[in-house]
Amino acid sequence: MMKGIRRQIVLQYFILVLLALLLIESIFLVAMQKYYYDSIYNYIESNSKNVIRYYNSSFIDSSNESSFISNLMYYLKLENTSLEILDTEGRVLALSSGFESDRVVQTSDVPQALKGSTGRWIGKDVITGESVMAVSTKIDYGNDNVYIARYVTSMERVNDALVDILVWSGLIVVGVLVLVFTISIGLANSIVRPINIITAASAEMAKGRFDVRIEGDYKYEIGELSSTLNYMAEEIVRSNQVKDDFISSISHELRTPLTSIKGWNETLESGGYDPEETKMGLKIISKETNRLIGLVEELLDFSKLQQNEMKMVKGTVSVREVLQEIMLNVWAKAEQKQIKLRLTADEEDYLILGDGNRLKQVFLNVIDNAIKFSHMNTWIDITIKREQDQVVVIVQDTGIGISEEHLERVKDRFYQVDHQHGGTGLGLAISQQLIELHGGTLQMESELGNGTTVTVKLPALTQEEHFESDIDPEVV
Ligand code: ATP
Ligand code: MG
Repeated sequence: MMKGIRRQIVLQYFILVLLALLLIESIFLVAMQKYYYDSIYNYIESNSKNVIRYYNSSFIDSSNESSFISNLMYYLKLENTSLEILDTEGRVLALSSGFESDRVVQTSDVPQALKGSTGRWIGKDVITGESVMAVSTKIDYGNDNVYIARYVTSMERVNDALVDILVWSGLIVVGVLVLVFTISIGLANSIVRPINIITAASAEMAKGRFDVRIEGDYKYEIGELSSTLNYMAEEIVRSNQVKDDFISSISHELRTPLTSIKGWNETLESGGYDPEETKMGLKIISKETNRLIGLVEELLDFSKLQQNEMKMVKGTVSVREVLQEIMLNVWAKAEQKQIKLRLTADEEDYLILGDGNRLKQVFLNVIDNAIKFSHMNTWIDITIKREQDQVVVIVQDTGIGISEEHLERVKDRFYQVDHQHGGTGLGLAISQQLIELHGGTLQMESELGNGTTVTVKLPALTQEEHFESDIDPEVV
């Protein structure tokens, strides 16, 4: 038994076609019947009229009425049709088939004929019970010589033919309906089957099996639906992967400093080291602790940004100052790889309205990335310039670069091209959001093997903002 959409489609098609066919069929049958009946009528009518016109007064010569009438009968008679001559009362005066006198005809064709037009009546013959057509015409030769010629013809043959047509066209209707039925089942199946497959697949996905894919190449909306679902599953798999990667890299990130802290702690505890060595051990413990604090802070920042709870203390910030400070901070790290940092800026300050610490965090990450992913003995170019009412910072390295497929994802949270370099993969995700909170943009361009360029654009401080922010640093 069919259910749902399938049934709906089949039923609707069926009813629609059935109604259309019934309409056409009835119009056709009515037209057929009218055509047959009219042609019989026209044949009789034209014949009798011609005869009456042609033989006009020559009939009157006969003084004897009965021979006059038999003359009339002779000239007017038609094959397959019985002819009656009536007087004005409708009484039968002569009859082509037998001698049945004194019958009075009362059908509507007679008064119609007396009025002057040709009368027509269709009905059942009283005697035989056959369905007949009567056509009556007035014959008026003046001086009370008024008669009616009444033809009666059986309609049985015509009706039989019409029934035949009805049966045949009925068969055609049934045939068409069967065809429509099969076609609409096929159509319904082509819709329902993929929907069932998609439903089954999405039920699997709902259970957490994201390796399931909807197979088959469907068209139109259904195709779109299935590819959207497949895409969704892929995205879920991918983000799960990113999450798993993150957990493993964060555990690793946490374990390394902890191991080192623990190791030095135990070493120092056992005692017997000279003050120099002790100092070095403590320094390492402190450095590793800072690294842990930094890591945890990054995670906290990230979750604050996620929940829109990042508080910013905005004031006038000199972008140039921020960058110079960062260059001092990363100098040691750059030195290790013999990387030189070069700052190009025309103006003194490049003022913007923002949170100095947060901006420092952004550029620290961008420049740290540049150092981290650069080769030994290279340059990193940092440029500040003004573009319309924006301050633009460009950090350009000639490092390992990022391939196109990774480039579109590096700003995703926890995303790292490889996990060898440490870190959490949160740096750019946080930077991007912080820059957006400042009303700016962060763009990355890169070519694998050739280096990366990060462009940060921030709205420059206007004169009025400059004035206001000096008085009251706003908290956003
Ligand atoms: P974190 O910043 O948390 O220490 P991270 O530096 O790995 O970790 P992001 O700053 O978000 O995280 O960078 C994400 C990834 O983008 C990096 O792991 C690296 O693969 C790629 N990437 C970022 N900047 C560069 C760059 N200048 N050159 C090459 N690859 C880069
Ligand atoms: Mg980073």
